[in-house]
Amino acid sequence: ERIVSGESEFNEDSFEYSLRPQTIKQYIGQDKVKHNLEVFIEAAKMRQETLDHVLLYGPPGLGKTTLAAVIANEMGVNLRTTSGPAIERPGDLAAVLTALEPGDVLFIDEIHRLPRAIEEVLYPAMEDFCLDIVIGNGPSARSVRLDLPPFTLVGATTRAGALSAPLRDRFGVLCRLEYYNEEQLNEIVQRTAAILNTKIEATASEELARRSRGTPRIANRLLRRVRDFAQVKGNGDITTQLSREALELLQVDRLGLDHIDHKLLRGIIERFRGGPVGLDTIAASIGEESHTIEDVYEPYLLQIGFLQRTPRGRIVTHLVYEHFQLEVPAK
Ligand code: ADP
Repeated sequence: ERIVSGESEFNEDSFEYSLRPQTIKQYIGQDKVKHNLEVFIEAAKMRQETLDHVLLYGPPGLGKTTLAAVIANEMGVNLRTTSGPAIERPGDLAAVLTALEPGDVLFIDEIHRLPRAIEEVLYPAMEDFCLDIVIGNGPSARSVRLDLPPFTLVGATTRAGALSAPLRDRFGVLCRLEYYNEEQLNEIVQRTAAILNTKIEATASEELARRSRGTPRIANRLLRRVRDFAQVKGNGDITTQLSREALELLQVDRLGLDHIDHKLLRGIIERFRGGPVGLDTIAASIGEESHTIEDVYEPYLLQIGFLQRTPRGRIVTHLVYEHFQLEVPAK
């Protein structure tokens, strides 16, 4: 497991659950998204209608699941949760949909992984709140239409591009979550420390924020590990010194990069003179799958300007040379 991965780790659920903000007010950052949602929620409530379907997209760990729960809470309705991979047959989806109560929020995580045949069941459900079910087979088969209670679908995906156009078009509200800045992550670390009843020095909290790769899930995870360390090596308070030592041990560098990022970046510098080099070539040279590099390793490196995508392949920028204290080669 990678400590700086945005994906949730095995066994992390209950820890995360206890930290989830419940209201829009408690939800830190993402101001544009929050502002839009506030308006839509307010309007839907005034009209006593369900909220339009919402698609949340962005890298893992930025708060999509949390926001779905916040939306349900702000609307004053139940949240039902499932995920693309959990729905294997049309009947699975029908079971979920028919169990909804009027106004409920149905959250489908990793919605891009819904099989196409199941997406088609979803279209009339989203559009007209009904299900078309085929009963019987052969010549006597017929289709019956079943009414559903009105509901709000909140879909989450890390790859909006992987969603089929007909599905994407059925969402009235599209929200792109952005990486958080250091100030916001600092606020999240402080909030989490308060919930965990842990004292943390301001500079320690800033340090954690800086190494969290713009991702609340990573900020909370680093805090938890550093807190363990402070408990064992100190009196439980997170001092700047203790947090430095812990982060050193965790091998997360001052920008939140770990050995995999280092391998990737140094690989491009050492074997391909900094690029441009094609994704598949990089993948083969460090023994990783191309799509893992593209979906998991690359986004943050692109975000902080360490990597650039060009038509001829990836290149590392001067920032990487500076980070590793290497001389920028003359080209
Ligand atoms: P995603 O569904 O995008 O992978 P989650 O909603 O599961 O991300 O969020 C991961 C963790 O980060 C949760 O434990 C949550 O408490 C925390 N978190 C996410 N967004 C925020 C936020 N805006 N403010 C405070 N904490 C957040």
